[in-house]
Amino acid sequence: MSKLFIDGKWVDAVSGETISVVSPVDGEAFDAIARGRDADVDAAVSAARRAHEGAWGRLSATERGRILTKLAQRIADNTEELARLEARDTGKPMSTARNDIQVLARYFEFYAGAADKVHGQIIPFLNGYTVSLLREPLGVTAHIIPWNYPAQMLGRTIAPALAMGNATVLKPAEDACLSTLRVAQLAVEAGLPDGALNVVTGYGHEAGAALAGHPGIDFVTFTGSNEVGTLVQQAAARNAVKCVLELGGKSPQIVFADVDAARAVPTIVKAIVQNTGQTCTAGSRLLVERSIYEKFVGQIGEAFAAVRVGTPEMDFDCGPVVNRTQFERVNAMVDAAKRGGVPVVSQGQLASNLPRGGYFVQPTLFGNVPVRSDLAQKEVFGPVLAAFPFDDEADAIALANSTDYGLLAAVWTENGGRQQRVAKAVRCGQVFVNCYGAGGGVELPFGGVKRSGHGREKGFLALEEMSTTKTVVQFHG
Ligand code: NAP
Ligand code: MG
Repeated sequence: MSKLFIDGKWVDAVSGETISVVSPVDGEAFDAIARGRDADVDAAVSAARRAHEGAWGRLSATERGRILTKLAQRIADNTEELARLEARDTGKPMSTARNDIQVLARYFEFYAGAADKVHGQIIPFLNGYTVSLLREPLGVTAHIIPWNYPAQMLGRTIAPALAMGNATVLKPAEDACLSTLRVAQLAVEAGLPDGALNVVTGYGHEAGAALAGHPGIDFVTFTGSNEVGTLVQQAAARNAVKCVLELGGKSPQIVFADVDAARAVPTIVKAIVQNTGQTCTAGSRLLVERSIYEKFVGQIGEAFAAVRVGTPEMDFDCGPVVNRTQFERVNAMVDAAKRGGVPVVSQGQLASNLPRGGYFVQPTLFGNVPVRSDLAQKEVFGPVLAAFPFDDEADAIALANSTDYGLLAAVWTENGGRQQRVAKAVRCGQVFVNCYGAGGGVELPFGGVKRSGHGREKGFLALEEMSTTKTVVQFHG
């Protein structure tokens, strides 16, 4: 689909240029998308403004909710087709892709129901006055999303923005646009007014930069790398526009000696190999109390050795990573750690009959990782788990907080007091106790602290982020 979706219509990029869509399974081009740039972003932002001031902005919250309910249903009805598209585009195993589409539908379902449940407040003030706090949409919201969970990210960012009555402009990652473009078609079928959702595909440094810095937007939300997040925040600052940033993590799994290992081991392995480790919330650090370190890391190692990598249709634990850059980046980090003498505890297996030219990487568990090394500090964004021993609770907390990131953490212990103490001491946006929820939970407010970003998505807090208030002071005597 080499068209942009602007003002409810499918249009070519002004330049007429396109970008090839490459399959991560074999490195071959199989489709093309439009290469949107400044002029296309201008048209999309204008269309969104007209929608906000026109047909979309005039709808009641209940009517907005009804349209989003229809869109959720259209997505659910087309789960299989959307999942195939998503798997083709990103290389995900089919069952992961299916789950992603179900979560996409769930986002629209949740926020459709929430649209008319956002209340204002009445504030006590001087005698003779009534003060109301109205909650209003921001206007035109800009959304820049990455390639790791394209469908889920679309739902996470667009559903609350629309539910709140904003008109939206979305720039998907050039590596993964296909499910987004299909959802735009479904939105038309659901009756979404023209201009409420606009999709401009293209390169980040062209369409993405044009959108982030556009003077016609009222808000921008970005998920992706720290480098680009900083550029987006600078661009937003120039227009005095609020921004929400979600920039990834290096999330710790903190395992104490009284862990229920039968429950913890499969959850911990899944939390890093899910989506081939390309998950901002991946549990990429394993912190284990020294008295059980060898035994527990050995159990994780056995489970790791059983992790299989294959094509979407093989539907194993991992697919390929998304593109050649990621393939080289993950392999370079693994090779550097090996060269630096970090011990490999175990590795997963690539299927024997994989297509040539695909971006398949071998899942790897490293043990006794030096705390200041790249592997301990930097996001690999691949199926690579780094294990560390710790001595006591204080040591565990210090180690958990020893990176620049602060997105998620998990604590594994049966000791209730310790669960609470550690949950409070770890600096991050979500803590899981004896469970893990990488990416899951539409209802659960989500976002980071420290270099993982700021602002909250998901749950009702997303509606607050994507709206503003107006204080109306009325004198009536
Ligand atoms: P990225 O460049 O930050 O891409 C994220 C989004 O920003 C994409 O839509 C991208 O478009 C767009 N973009 C790129 N340059 C831009 C600019 N100058 N202005 C505005 N938007 C721009 O991330 P990446 O290069 O794909 O991945 C690199 C690393 O980022 C990964 O290895 C991983 O560590 C991290 N990452 C984190 C997350 C997360 O969920 N937090 C997701 C993805 C990646 P194009 O892709 O079309 O250029
Ligand atoms: Mg792709």
